[in-house]
Amino acid sequence: MSRGPCEECEELLQGYLDRELDDREVAQAEKHLDGCEYCRRRYRFELSLRKYVRTTAVERMPAGLMEKLVQLRSADGPTA
Ligand SMILES: [Zn+2]
Repeated sequence: MSRGPCEECEELLQGYLDRELDDREVAQAEKHLDGCEYCRRRYRFELSLRKYVRTTAVERMPAGLMEKLVQLRSADGPTA
């Protein structure tokens, strides 16, 4: 994926999706999403991806896709 215009708020968005932010940061993220089309799309995409991963039978996924998702997750740090 090419670098977006909002690379600096990537971390905020990830934390928001993972619900790891404190109240102040949540407000900040929501305010940003409100005004930033790029991050809003990104947020919806990530949200539907997470929902898909959670609700769809993992074994139905193509092996390559699963591998990619695992790589993405491990890039986030150690899994809790
Ligand atoms: Zn943004």
